[in-house]
Amino acid sequence: MPSRVCYWHVGSEEQRERYIPPLIKAEDSGCFALTEADTGSDVASMKTTAKEVDDGYILNGNKMWISGVPNATIGLIYAMTDREKKHRGMSAFMVDMNSPGIEQRAIPDKLGLHSSPTGEISFEEVKIPRNALVGKIGDGFKIAMFMLDRTRLSCAARAAGVAEKCFDLSRQYANERTQFGQPIIEFQMIQDQLARMWCEHEAAKLLVLRAAWMMDNLEKMGGRATLHISTAKYYGAEAAVMAANEATKLYASYGYSAEYPIERYYRDAKSYQIVEGTSNIQKIIIARNFIEKRE
Ligand SMILES: Cc1cc2nc3c(=O)[nH]c(=O)nc-3n(C[C@H](O)[C@H](O)[C@H](O)COP(=O)(O)OP(=O)(O)OC[C@H]3O[C@@H](n4cnc5c(N)ncnc54)[C@H](O)[C@@H]3O)c2cc1C
Repeated sequence: MPSRVCYWHVGSEEQRERYIPPLIKAEDSGCFALTEADTGSDVASMKTTAKEVDDGYILNGNKMWISGVPNATIGLIYAMTDREKKHRGMSAFMVDMNSPGIEQRAIPDKLGLHSSPTGEISFEEVKIPRNALVGKIGDGFKIAMFMLDRTRLSCAARAAGVAEKCFDLSRQYANERTQFGQPIIEFQMIQDQLARMWCEHEAAKLLVLRAAWMMDNLEKMGGRATLHISTAKYYGAEAAVMAANEATKLYASYGYSAEYPIERYYRDAKSYQIVEGTSNIQKIIIARNFIEKRE
């Protein structure tokens, strides 16, 4: 999905026609690969390189923690074309993942998101054609940030959804479960939990809606909604973790059982504090807006 989002906006006409229809029809399966074993938040320090040759580029390096791997058929791969230029030396390429020299491996046994495969990729002398380049040489960082604005918003929406589901299930359970001869919802401490979960998920949802509205009205908003997208992503992730944590306490032993959905939300919610930029990185993006320029 992320590669579809990005491609629609930044790919050439020829690239859109070639890659988007099979992705939409699920004939192809996409991934986007920024992260490496030693390079997470600091993407510009990535080690994967794309060396220009006569009729294209040669890719070498490794990517780690990539969603959609090991089953990706096409990948939006970021690589350094000029390391000296740091983030301005990063470029993006649309790569046929069945090309010789590419190996995809699953990362087994992760905490949550078990329905979403995650894996690592190695590129060894992988030849890619010139028309694999997305945008221009050196556009990679700009494309990645542009794409993250969009994928962070969908991540924020998923997180808000987890928070809402945890609240809904907890409300239902608190009305059904009886202890000391009454439904547990009659206990004020349970009401406190539900009230806080309600506030968190409502706030998370409204932040998502505001950021989404801004994305739909980018021109009126001056072209960027990054502050509000990072706000929604940060808050949504924290709300999901908080709501899943409270739901687990409220369900007690049944929250600890894999027969009930709460333990899955508890495990999945943590991912939102990591993927598409950690909670700390979102706070950095948010706070950057408050720093006044000095002489
Ligand atoms: C399930 C899953 C799916 C993923 N899918 C993809 C994918 O499809 N494509 C992709 O490219 N990546 C993907 N990732 C990787 C993810 O984007 C990175 O894990 C994330 O960016 C953080 O990088 P890191 O794990 O290397 O942590 P690090 O960057 O090493 O951070 C470690 C800690 O230091 C903190 N930190 C780092 N820098 C700063 C700073 N400047 N100030 C304060 N604190 C800081 C972080 O917040 C974190 O707490 C996925 C990860 C997971 C878990």
